Amino acid sequence: ITIAAPREPSPETRVALVPDIVSALVRAGHRVLVESGAGAASTHPDEAYTAAGAEVVPAIDLAAVDVLAHVTPLPATAFGRLRPGAVTLGLESPLDDDERLAAANANRLTVLAFERLPRTSRAQSMDVLSSQALAAGYRCVLEAAIRLPRFFPLAMTAAGTVPPAKVVVLGIGVAGLQAIATAKRLGAKVAANDIRPDSAEEARSVGATFIDVGLDAAEGTGTGGYARALGSSAAERQQAALAPHIADADVLITTAAVPGHRAPLLVTAAMVAAMRPGSVVVDLAASTGGNVEASRPGEDVRVPSSRGAGEVTVVGLASAPSDLPADASRLYAKNVANVLALLVADGELVVPLDDDIVAGLALTHEGVTRDRDGAPVAP
Ligand code: NAD
Repeated sequence: ITIAAPREPSPETRVALVPDIVSALVRAGHRVLVESGAGAASTHPDEAYTAAGAEVVPAIDLAAVDVLAHVTPLPATAFGRLRPGAVTLGLESPLDDDERLAAANANRLTVLAFERLPRTSRAQSMDVLSSQALAAGYRCVLEAAIRLPRFFPLAMTAAGTVPPAKVVVLGIGVAGLQAIATAKRLGAKVAANDIRPDSAEEARSVGATFIDVGLDAAEGTGTGGYARALGSSAAERQQAALAPHIADADVLITTAAVPGHRAPLLVTAAMVAAMRPGSVVVDLAASTGGNVEASRPGEDVRVPSSRGAGEVTVVGLASAPSDLPADASRLYAKNVANVLALLVADGELVVPLDDDIVAGLALTHEGVTRDRDGAPVAP
């Protein structure tokens, strides 16, 4: 089959196929088209794709493509130019954009959206949200460390002792766990909180202290291993219990998310102002609603500290995985290849909707929008 990867629109620096994966696809008998410059920002020049067996082209003839693998959500115009029955595979948020869904359905495309991958063990090797959250969780700690006017590790020197930085991490999913592990490796003291009951043990396993805010397990537990949105009284109790820990922190990292909802607001402007001058906050949820009131995606906002002259820096990370494009793309491309393996039978393109992974991914198929079970959604 013919598989293609476009040059992603700026500012995206990742790419959906890397040369190693192209080699494997070509060895398996597929034709791979890569748009010229697609890997330039992720350390993969056109020549590397050519050497791997891809056809590097100035512009992809979408009408010739069976599967288009991408990172950035595709515009409706691209859906219109693919051949009827073709498959697209990538990130697609927002998943309820009527105009794009209509364009995909009008052309009878199968749009596979990574955001809809089931969280099962069999699907783990295809999980773009996890692989990219790993990159984001690592990166956000480095962003904090660079801005902090202090050391992360304890230093005992002839010139005196420097205490370790105190880091608080809110949200102990894939990104939060990686943030904890990274901060620990840099020598910080880390405390963390999440509302899923399993998260306490997960945080301890990577070296953090768990901040217990006294919620009942049922208050934070949703379906499929995810959190649910807290009710207002539980959210207020959580905020009150977190406030002294945040006020005492040098660095606050927030990664909380609830699928299908805007990110929960966990930290008010007053809680940020109550941090010491020079402290740093990194909000990984800045572009999905924000866990921190003051954060702005892609910006550093300086908030005056009420603890003395000086400011707290609030970093709104917009797309942390794109700041590590080489490894983020390598993991992404491997996730893509693992999904592709489900879409080929006897060298032909297939869309097995009886496979729970394919059914989960398929946002549209055969002219209709689908739910997570592959069933048509009433218009
Ligand atoms: P996510 O990105 O949806 O959310 C990040 C974290 O924020 C979650 O841990 C969530 O509980 C937390 N959160 C939500 N509301 C909060 C609040 N008000 N206060 C504090 N924290 C809040 O989550 P994720 O990283 O995708 O992972 C969620 C869970 O799914 C984890 O347990 C993870 O290990 C598991 N998981 C399973 C698979 C799989 O089996 N294939 C894949 C990935 C993740």
